[in-house]
Amino acid sequence: MAAYNTISSFTRAFLPRASRLSRPRCAPPASCPIRSQSPRYLSCTVARRTENTDEERKWSTPLAKQLADAIMITGPIPLASYMRMCLTGDIGGYYTGLIEEGRDQFGLKGDFVTSPEISQIFGELVGIWFVTEWLSQGKPKKGVELMELGPGRGTLMDDVLRTIQNFKDFAQSIETIYMVEASPTLREAQKALLCGPDAPMTESKNGYHSVSKYGNIPIVWTESVRSVPDDPNNMPLIVAHEFFDALPIHAFESVKVASQPKSAPTGTPTSTPESSPSRSTAPATNDKDSGPTFEWREFVVSPTPPDATHASLNIPKSEQQDPIPDFQLTLSAAPTNHSRYLPESSPRYRALKHTPGSVIEVCPDATMYAADIAARIGGTPDRPRPRPAGAALILDYGPADTIPVNSLRGIQRHRRVNPLSAPGLVDVSADVDFTAIAESATKVSEGVEVHGPVEQAVFLSQMGIRERAEMLTRAPGVSEERAADIGRSWRRLVDRGPGGMGKVYKAMAILPEKDGKRRPVGFGGSI
Ligand code: SAH
Repeated sequence: MAAYNTISSFTRAFLPRASRLSRPRCAPPASCPIRSQSPRYLSCTVARRTENTDEERKWSTPLAKQLADAIMITGPIPLASYMRMCLTGDIGGYYTGLIEEGRDQFGLKGDFVTSPEISQIFGELVGIWFVTEWLSQGKPKKGVELMELGPGRGTLMDDVLRTIQNFKDFAQSIETIYMVEASPTLREAQKALLCGPDAPMTESKNGYHSVSKYGNIPIVWTESVRSVPDDPNNMPLIVAHEFFDALPIHAFESVKVASQPKSAPTGTPTSTPESSPSRSTAPATNDKDSGPTFEWREFVVSPTPPDATHASLNIPKSEQQDPIPDFQLTLSAAPTNHSRYLPESSPRYRALKHTPGSVIEVCPDATMYAADIAARIGGTPDRPRPRPAGAALILDYGPADTIPVNSLRGIQRHRRVNPLSAPGLVDVSADVDFTAIAESATKVSEGVEVHGPVEQAVFLSQMGIRERAEMLTRAPGVSEERAADIGRSWRRLVDRGPGGMGKVYKAMAILPEKDGKRRPVGFGGSI
């Protein structure tokens, strides 16, 4: 292989001057919101008894009623349980429920737009990134697995697969493509795009199967990463774009509490200030009051009181034309099971415990996914590998090195809405804690190292987005209008201003451990 001093010259040499076939395109940027914009601050009222004796109460969706009924029995539920039900619950979940006819989650007709839907170049560059990792890791002739977590419409994988047809040896090394997708409807959409609308899909105990229209590579769909087989001799190449932001979060706030004698009664997660005004489970050092201690309390979800108003719920002005949300976030009056152990799981959280008012968001599913990815690439004592191999690219929005705070947001039909309204119809997401992902990956496997996060603008620029866009623009037969569209689209992906995606979105890589000596492309390295 010739030497390429920049990834752009590599990209230019291998990619054709062709655009992908037409697909529904996004409207002018401003009308298609991206999920990372203007995180919402949720003001939190103190939990109050919200027994709903009014049988006439109208819930905005069937899922809202189901949640409210459950809360009546169990008491307020953790934010993570609410998010999970809203996004992937069996009944009416945003991704897993039956979406209204003629509408999907993405693009102009849906709720929000993502980078692969904005520009084909995004997926092309992810494909090139995979190729560069394969080249750097000894170009195995077989045993390569592509895996995507949360593939949406399948657009990103389609662009990856089309692109890697230009790298025959790499394309031939791919044994299987795994798509981890919770939504049956999106699984069908992905199959139609990647395999053809008429291609058969079969079901086995391992998942759903079809064959890619590019190179007849087998594609397997599973609902969780745990169901993807882990062959220690294979090279997994994994991408997750806007997947981690859809994983449920827990939120906690540190509070100062007066120490209680040992005999103090134990509070329950569902107790409210009215029912137990000064209850605490803070461990006491002796039977006398020994001064204040600090505890984490969990934000929990309960129905809004029947007499709630926009003002009493502190709803921002921009959302005051919307109906009162069905649910509200309140701070649990006593520790919960989760507040006792999750904030103790990292020194980053523990350092904040003694500063009352500190808020943290913790995503155990992200930790689990990061650990699984790291185990596949680097091996663990339980899942040994002959040697580390593979790579994972995580692209999402969130702060580079701080713990996310008050980042829960809701989007519906291109608008910010209250995330606790219309459960199942509103997309709910939260900032990704990249440092927590890095911590989890390196803790579980000594065979991996983590690069980044770097801003999306940096990653895509180093991958050659400008040069690729110029190539597409100059291709024969490209109209002025199309050229302008290509220009607008790629610039939006790297725009570091408030409406752009270059700064808030980040890229992180999990790679085989090399003592930090080999930087991957897009993260300061070259091939
Ligand atoms: N990557 C795509 C889609 C992002 S939306 C894009 O950038 O356009 C989130 C995707 O993750 C959807 O496909 C959704 O169905 C899937 N998803 C969300 N939560 C999931 C979970 N817990 N397990 C598996 N898939 C999930």
